[in-house]
Amino acid sequence: MIFVLTFAFVIFLCFGSFLNVLSHRITFDKKLFFKRSHCPHCSGIISWYNNIPLFSWVFLKGKCKKCNKPISILYPFIELFSGVVHTYLFFNEFTFDLHPRFVGSLNIAVGSFLSYFVFFSALICATRSDFERMVIPQIFTLWLVPIGIFSAYLGLIKILFYDSLFGAIFGYAFLWVVGKVFKFFTKKDGIGEGDMELLALIGSFLGVFGMYFSLMIGSVIGLILGGVYLFIKNKNRNSKIPFGPFLVLGAIFYFFFIQI
Ligand SMILES: [Zn+2]
Repeated sequence: MIFVLTFAFVIFLCFGSFLNVLSHRITFDKKLFFKRSHCPHCSGIISWYNNIPLFSWVFLKGKCKKCNKPISILYPFIELFSGVVHTYLFFNEFTFDLHPRFVGSLNIAVGSFLSYFVFFSALICATRSDFERMVIPQIFTLWLVPIGIFSAYLGLIKILFYDSLFGAIFGYAFLWVVGKVFKFFTKKDGIGEGDMELLALIGSFLGVFGMYFSLMIGSVIGLILGGVYLFIKNKNRNSKIPFGPFLVLGAIFYFFFIQI
């Protein structure tokens, strides 16, 4: 079992590298394929031995070997994020999950794993784009809402069809209303379109309660960490902090610790 999990962890670390590239290139509208990994500063090609997930960044002390400019800490962070979350999902779906619907049906376990795998990969990519550029491309959110609803319809995920449908609709609508109210009182945009779309995706995979729970947990953690960040950096309250990563954190917490 340990061997299988270690192997899975390594695979999902490498997959995290892929998600890094995917997210970065989509966020900055770059070409997706036909180009090897390169440094964003000097465009130098990164050789395979300097491109090993997690370890290379640590060995190179977060700097490009050619131009010595810093390489974003988002790279090892996203790799580790993918490694941990996907391995836990794998473990959860194939061994621990004794949900009556899954027992004795490997096909459903595989289908369930793949559905959630798409969901978590999207959350990881959304986290990276929101940290890096304060936007969340729709391809990581709205485009995948039908997959959530369809998976629920097929019985692959742990919520029912209507729960998924209303989770998506309420997720979007709830933040939309909050954003309008916020704007009415402060005359500022507090909630981005990307956050609404992200919560719609979370609702489509976790249902109405899961969506609501993710929002509450995300807001509480966001308020605390955001407050600490502003305090340390001594910035004023107008500084922008991405909200998406906190919604993602809330959703992951809900999936692994609350939902049965
Ligand atoms: Zn470089």
